Amino acid sequence: MPQSSSSIQIAVIGSGYVGLVAAVCFAEMGHGVICVDNDERKVKALQSGDTLIHETYLPELLSRYCNKEIRFTTDLAEATRESQAIFIAVGTPQSETGDADLSYVEAVACEIARSLTKYTVIVEKSTVPVYTNEWISRALVRNGVPRDLFDVVSNPEFLREGTAVADFLHPDRIVVGSDSPRASEVLAGIYSPLTGGSYYQRPDAIGGMCSAALPPPLLFTSTKSAEIIKHASNAFLALKISFINAVSNLCEATDANVEQVANGMGLDSRIGPKFLRPGIGYGGSCFPKDVAAFRSVADQMGVDFSLLTEVEKINAQQKTRFVRKVRTALWTLRGKKLGVLGLAFKGETDDIRESPAVELIEMFIAEGCSIIAYDPAATSRTQEILPAGPKLEYADDAYSTAKDVDALLILTDWMEFAKLDLQRLNSTMRYPIVVDGRNLFDPGKMAAAGFTYISIGRPAAH
Ligand code: NAD
Repeated sequence: MPQSSSSIQIAVIGSGYVGLVAAVCFAEMGHGVICVDNDERKVKALQSGDTLIHETYLPELLSRYCNKEIRFTTDLAEATRESQAIFIAVGTPQSETGDADLSYVEAVACEIARSLTKYTVIVEKSTVPVYTNEWISRALVRNGVPRDLFDVVSNPEFLREGTAVADFLHPDRIVVGSDSPRASEVLAGIYSPLTGGSYYQRPDAIGGMCSAALPPPLLFTSTKSAEIIKHASNAFLALKISFINAVSNLCEATDANVEQVANGMGLDSRIGPKFLRPGIGYGGSCFPKDVAAFRSVADQMGVDFSLLTEVEKINAQQKTRFVRKVRTALWTLRGKKLGVLGLAFKGETDDIRESPAVELIEMFIAEGCSIIAYDPAATSRTQEILPAGPKLEYADDAYSTAKDVDALLILTDWMEFAKLDLQRLNSTMRYPIVVDGRNLFDPGKMAAAGFTYISIGRPAAH
């Protein structure tokens, strides 16, 4: 779309899941964007319109704005000089000590410092621990930037992979942690198409026109509060998952049904139904590292937050319990051939970072099993870290995965799997045993289709 008079020139540093999605969404909101990455191969691919990641709406938006409202470059200095606001969206992976590794953020801050010549708002989009804002300011000043030439604000991102574009454009809330009215005004301007509601009146709005819906609130907080909001939100969601996983274990021990329990709990508006689905534990590039980083921040501040250690413990146990479940179903594991449906850390994404599915495959191979695996989008990424070999092969679809296996395991909640033809699946398997780590199927229907069906926290069905 043509840039309006309220268009703001934005740089986004880091073109990964968050940076690229933010960049196309800012362009969709009418801003001009320079998207920077230091990976030349990535920049070349993006310039040619290849999104590199699997995300709904991303190909359409990229082809609409690529080399027009969005430019891709490796030149951070040029992006700094041309922009009013710079969003830092580089990785903040877990270090060996559990802390967030902030070396990528620091490198970007130092590079920005070398080219800053006019007032610019630096925005932390990456998930960072409290006080990072102050460290970024210090890095800029130490590198010779006058203090009145910049402000640093925190604008944490809450998108979920798989629905990232829709989440970015239809957020529950937009959090801006700012200690400067001037910087707050710039951020308010950037998000005004969403917070003012004009975006939702466009006939071509992603997610459909929804003029009746309330626009998202723009929540201003202190920078430290915003940094803590992001870590606390992810830690709380991880806690909710570990809580329902522990409840599911109790349901298994008592022959209760966790689905009924979760439903009964979730109807309480104080609890809510989301994130009450038991499974094989949370994974992905955010929850494991963010829980560890938040725990580490609490430790460093002398605050006892050992609740988070329990969250991590339950999460790890969920995988060993699953291996035991499969062993119980098959009597022994050595020499068994297992079909695995799902490699991504969750459905509708190709991301395998900290994927419980990948970890479980390694655990089953260590137990002497051989694996045939399939994922609708994450196979090539998995092959890079787990190449095919005598104990591991990859299939092209779910039905060939099930062919002649001793049991079929469901490890990722892809919608594609929930729609499988059960009769066809059953007819290809050596034994019709399905162990479902994601509770994708109705136990009654699985039993009616002739399966022995074992899931999480629900009585087995035969
Ligand atoms: P990612 O690894 O997909 O992308 C990071 C990108 O930054 C990479 O393309 C990398 O090449 C680039 N990069 C690193 N150093 C650079 C430098 N000096 N200059 C330019 N580019 C550089 O990471 P991501 O998943 O997009 O996550 C980014 C941040 O957002 C993390 O802090 C993460 O915790 C947070 N976050 C992620 C999600 C998610 O679902 N992935 C959601 C919310 C927040």
